[in-house]
Amino acid sequence: MPTNKISIIGAGFVGSTTAFSIMEAGLASDIVLVDVNREKADAEAMDLRQGAAFVKAVEIISGTLEDTKDSTLIIITAGIGPKPGETRLDILNKNVPIFRSIVPELVKQSPDALILVVSNPVDVLTYMTYRFAGSPKNRVFGSGTVLDTSRLKSILSQSFGVDARNIHAYIIGEHGDSEIAAWSATKIAGMSVEQYQDMLGMYEKDFKERIHHDVKNAAYEIINRKGYTNYAVALAIRRIVEAVLRDEKSILTVSGLFEGEFGISDVYMAMPCIVGRNGIERILPIPLDDNEHQKLKESADILKSMIKAANID
Ligand code: NAD
Repeated sequence: MPTNKISIIGAGFVGSTTAFSIMEAGLASDIVLVDVNREKADAEAMDLRQGAAFVKAVEIISGTLEDTKDSTLIIITAGIGPKPGETRLDILNKNVPIFRSIVPELVKQSPDALILVVSNPVDVLTYMTYRFAGSPKNRVFGSGTVLDTSRLKSILSQSFGVDARNIHAYIIGEHGDSEIAAWSATKIAGMSVEQYQDMLGMYEKDFKERIHHDVKNAAYEIINRKGYTNYAVALAIRRIVEAVLRDEKSILTVSGLFEGEFGISDVYMAMPCIVGRNGIERILPIPLDDNEHQKLKESADILKSMIKAANID
């Protein structure tokens, strides 16, 4: 049986760039690409295989859902991406039927696999995957706001002239329009954003609002120009894969099932979580002020109304 077999469902912009990123990182023993557009999956697998001489040994194939058998981790990027002007909510109804058809077959082939959902709207589709899979909650999770959190760190890094890896900051809630910057839990060398600005003598009215706005609109800005996003999301997925396969217990803002945390239940959304070989090991109760807590509840309500609208029961 392969040691670290990763199956990627959907070999589009995100799926193929993710395969490249995981291949380059040397994380997998096997990578399987599956797409309804078989020619596309075949071509992407061929292209990747031809780089074999430059990376650690890895078996890369394209195939069918049956070829995902005995996967360690399944990454779902299949579906319809947002067109310019469309929100993540707009595309839910196009993607639910795809998940209804592929998830049970994936679980049949690999009952013990972890499933990482990336397709949008990611929190709702992760919830659907959990329901369609019937797997334990820790084994089904979404990429959540790992990308958005990286965008926040990267923008703060540029503003403050600090390595993004030294900024502890989190985007929480929905991966989408209602996402929240958890400023109460943001620290740079133990300092709050205000303390760091004071130290630099930097005063900008509405600084936090501007940064939050830029993070929230980052995907739209890119999609409006090139039609899709692929590089940063692929790196975010690679980071999650690394935390899982190396059992790192890393803190990542993946999308997990809330069961009473922050007074919220029966919805998947992003919060800093401990991520390791068993998937989500714990959702962390980070400090939030009243306003952030209220916004988190509103984000949960938006996601719940989408789940209800999809009417999967
Ligand atoms: P894309 O259109 O390039 O790729 C999607 C692929 O899915 C296509 O190749 C299509 O043929 C395939 N597909 C459709 N139905 C399928 C099925 N039943 N089985 C297998 N494959 C199927 O889109 P993309 O740009 O790669 O985006 C993929 C998804 O990732 C979108 O939903 C997008 O919104 C999402 N995304 C998420 C994040 C995030 O942070 N969560 C970031 C970027 C993109």
